[in-house]
Amino acid sequence: MGHFVYLNDGVVPAAEAKVSVFDHGFLYGDGIYETMRVYDGVVFLLDEHLQRLCRSASLIGLDVPKDIPGIKRALYETLRANGLRNAYVRLTVSRGYGQIGLDPGLCKEPTFVIIANEFKPYPSALYENGISLIIASTRRNLKEALDPQIKSLNFLNNILAKIEAQRADAYEAVLLNAAGHLTEGTISNLFFVKEGVLCTPAVECGILDGITRALVVGLAVRSGIELREGEFLPGDLYGASEVFVTNTTMEIMPVSRVDAARFTVGHVAGLLHTQYRHEVNGYVSEKKGEGPSLWQ
Ligand code: PMP
Repeated sequence: MGHFVYLNDGVVPAAEAKVSVFDHGFLYGDGIYETMRVYDGVVFLLDEHLQRLCRSASLIGLDVPKDIPGIKRALYETLRANGLRNAYVRLTVSRGYGQIGLDPGLCKEPTFVIIANEFKPYPSALYENGISLIIASTRRNLKEALDPQIKSLNFLNNILAKIEAQRADAYEAVLLNAAGHLTEGTISNLFFVKEGVLCTPAVECGILDGITRALVVGLAVRSGIELREGEFLPGDLYGASEVFVTNTTMEIMPVSRVDAARFTVGHVAGLLHTQYRHEVNGYVSEKKGEGPSLWQ
């Protein structure tokens, strides 16, 4: 754990970073968050993450208590305080302290927290051999009930699927939507290759439109890989030639098994991961090339 946490107005020792039991984030899961990856001192795709944070905030009628430059300063201040250059950062904004009751008006000030920890790479064996997935019996939240595009603190839907995965000795669970179409993992987006076409469930299926997913889609298109975003069934996944999942921390993680179906780690995931790394390196040098900056 990092030694310093950003809480509301500044960096404090982690042991002193306390939030009230009356915080509506704690009481009701009323809040939002983003997880970002830091490579060599640079927060990757920071603007995209902050844009999504603002979208989540607006979808729940929450005012983020800092503007974008203020959030960026707070992020880099937290990284500097912890001496971190390769890290993951979680930014959380909850509705804040208030009396019991659902009315957001009970909370006068949102709670703003940044936690930064050293990034511990996933074991290389996972990238070499792939992870195992199950298709969970827990369905993804209906987007008309709780839109998965809101990256909210209310994660029970995903946690229930994760528990199913753990019980089945699997690493990640894929959730279907109410119509039985594939959606996404508990913390990742899903891709598979079928008859040479790279397939991924469309945003309309009720998923979080992952920032890694968007980058991977862009890389695939640029590489001339045929791409299909749409509605897919479990059978499409079982019959794939290659499967992988994406997120900010895993980047592109190959899958070796979905329920009883087995897959070998394929070249599409490998190719895209090489390009992904290239993209990261380009981004980091570009940001550093912009001159005196927040991370120096
Ligand atoms: N879906 C869900 C439900 C997630 O929690 C995450 C992780 N934020 C993702 C997809 C992947 O999103 P990203 O690529 O932006 O990390």
